[in-house]
Amino acid sequence: MRLRRRINNYAMSQGGIQKVTKILRVALAGNPNAGKTSIFNALTGQSQHVGNYPGVTVEKKTGYIKYKDTLIEFVDLPGTYSLTAYSLEEVVARDFVIKSTPDVIIDVIDSTNLERNLYLCLQFQELGVPVVGALNMTDEAKSKGIHIDENLLSRLIGLPFVKTVGTRGEGREQLLEAVLNVAKGQISSTERHLNYGRELETQHNLLIAILKNDDQFAQNYPLHWIAIKLLENDGDAIQKVRAEHNAAEVVLKEAQERRDWIKRHFGEDSEVVVGEQRYAYIHGACKEAVQEDDSSQRIDYTEVIDTIVLNRFMGLLVFILVMFAIYQLTFALGNPVSDLIDLFFAWLQNAITQTMPVGVLRDFLVEGIIGGVGGVLVFFPIVLFLFLGLSFLEDTGYMARAAFVMDKFMHIFGLHGRSFIPMMVSTGCAVPGVMSARTLVNPKDRILTILVAPLMMCGAKTPVIAMLTASFFPENAGLVFWSIWFLSWVLALILARIFRNVFYQGEASPFVMELPPYRLPTVRGVLTHVWEKSWTYVKKAGTFILAASILIWFLLYFPKPPNSAKQGEQNPKIKKIEALTHSFGGRLGKMIEPVFEPCGFDWRIDVALIAGFAAKEVIVSTMGIVYGISEGDSHAELQTTYKSPLKEKLRNDGRYNPSNMLALMIFVLTYIPCIATLGVVKKELGRWRYPIFMAGYTLVIAWVLAAAAYQIGRLIGIG
Ligand code: GDP
Ligand code: MG
Repeated sequence: MRLRRRINNYAMSQGGIQKVTKILRVALAGNPNAGKTSIFNALTGQSQHVGNYPGVTVEKKTGYIKYKDTLIEFVDLPGTYSLTAYSLEEVVARDFVIKSTPDVIIDVIDSTNLERNLYLCLQFQELGVPVVGALNMTDEAKSKGIHIDENLLSRLIGLPFVKTVGTRGEGREQLLEAVLNVAKGQISSTERHLNYGRELETQHNLLIAILKNDDQFAQNYPLHWIAIKLLENDGDAIQKVRAEHNAAEVVLKEAQERRDWIKRHFGEDSEVVVGEQRYAYIHGACKEAVQEDDSSQRIDYTEVIDTIVLNRFMGLLVFILVMFAIYQLTFALGNPVSDLIDLFFAWLQNAITQTMPVGVLRDFLVEGIIGGVGGVLVFFPIVLFLFLGLSFLEDTGYMARAAFVMDKFMHIFGLHGRSFIPMMVSTGCAVPGVMSARTLVNPKDRILTILVAPLMMCGAKTPVIAMLTASFFPENAGLVFWSIWFLSWVLALILARIFRNVFYQGEASPFVMELPPYRLPTVRGVLTHVWEKSWTYVKKAGTFILAASILIWFLLYFPKPPNSAKQGEQNPKIKKIEALTHSFGGRLGKMIEPVFEPCGFDWRIDVALIAGFAAKEVIVSTMGIVYGISEGDSHAELQTTYKSPLKEKLRNDGRYNPSNMLALMIFVLTYIPCIATLGVVKKELGRWRYPIFMAGYTLVIAWVLAAAAYQIGRLIGIG
């Protein structure tokens, strides 16, 4: 048994001293944004990603604690509004609850939106799993003048409720106590399930009676739940009956008759009637247990801001301006720090050059390691500020609104409103971006989104673009930076439209989305986000980029050209370039140089672009290495060994100018996604033809756009 083993491991890691006599498995479930992950973190002391838009927690996460003599395993489930199998999150959450049968479910409830949140809670109760309700966001409810009598609510609904503030860990002890009590059976949370009214209950009982005929089935599933689901015409429940019930035909026929009866009697589809009954029941309970202050005096800021932000046209403009501000700020704040780091690495290179003896080892350290990894770390501050800005937007609740506003707009381009989320996540990294496309239920919508999401300007393209803007457009750096971001959206949307028309006819399905109230993000929350993403960046530089840099350095350093007899007479600059073109990498670059000539790239850039296929940051490291090895280009005349920052080297290189560098930025933005992304696309979509198609189409488009940019740039005379 896997859980057993994990628990033993845990006990061992604790020194084996603490006695664990009981083991509980507790699932955290609830609507998106109710604070499940916050509560999970408060309970387990972990720092999982708290997100303010759906799709963030698609996979379930696990953590353990020991409380009293019980070891508790917590599972953080994706958010769902109901247990109807409409989306992947719902299926993940629901299957977990049914198949892994947790001992207790903590249903995390947004207290400011009690009635809607209780809807899910009651469905859990119906499933027959012990439930504890965590009335989360009590702080917000209080400031909105909502007073909940949790004891009364507990008695009315028939399960224990505990007030919590997830972000501050308030109510943690009480919650754990309630979990233990429910698990011990001291408080029952399931003996009483809601009453659907006389007519519905009769239909319900008729169905249960027939379902009971199969003992095995009755053991596997809670029958009253299956019966209700059949009345709701739930595809998954029907599937279960068809596959596992020994009298499936009879049951399904009976279910159809019951539904018809309800429809005749109530004049509405039975699923609607069942849902309404549930709401009516909840409404009744809340009327008793909740008191609201007169709110006519209060100004609802969320509403005021939303009239602008959610306006169809204004909203789009606001989104574009907000991103503009973010890129401006990122550059204004990040670039000076980046320059300092750049100077530091140049100083370090000079120090090593001057102290170490001439030789391969010195070259390796200075050009390979510092030139490669240092080159990427230089842009860390810019990436950091970008992530800071994005995390801030996410945590205030703005991102959910941007998704809402973009919904209609996305439809024009044949995308689903929810496609916005994978695309926005891809602004950080396309790998989780592609994964978050799982929230799209319709396979066509999902494939389409995955095909275009990697065009977004991710955190790995950012350092390349930042380097080029800082070198060649220093006065308008923020604007150019943002324009590339804007271009990524334009391209992704246009291509989506084309793909939709060519491969995936039909229109995207509509979507409903929860709008959380605006919140002032907590410092801790934003920092956790930023830390998570930044650490990934630094870690990648220290591992993957380091390995790639070493490899690339070797390929560019060896083999050495045969010693020429005229040694010493030759200009050192020419000698270095000669050595470089003699290397493996150099020869490869020279070979493909003609292909990229129309884009204005020389062979050194070509080498960097090939290397960038591993990861886009590697473009920066490769350029650092190439220009490091050929150093002397600009300083040979001075006969010094002075090492200058990469940005400076590029600027001083006569072959580069704003027009071919703009072409390069466009190329980097669009061409073949990195290996990790292609890998995850294969994994998500299951077939090689998708990543292969992706690599092919992006390469073609990148070439065409870059060539166009370069040629136009030359025509209008900017290079
Ligand atoms: P999940 O989607 O259910 O996992 O929700 P998260 O844990 O990601 O939380 C969503 C947002 O609500 C985050 O911005 C949290 O910081 C915030 N949040 C969570 N719990 C509370 C709470 O008790 N009070 C307040 N004011 N904010 C909270
Ligand atoms: Mg979450």
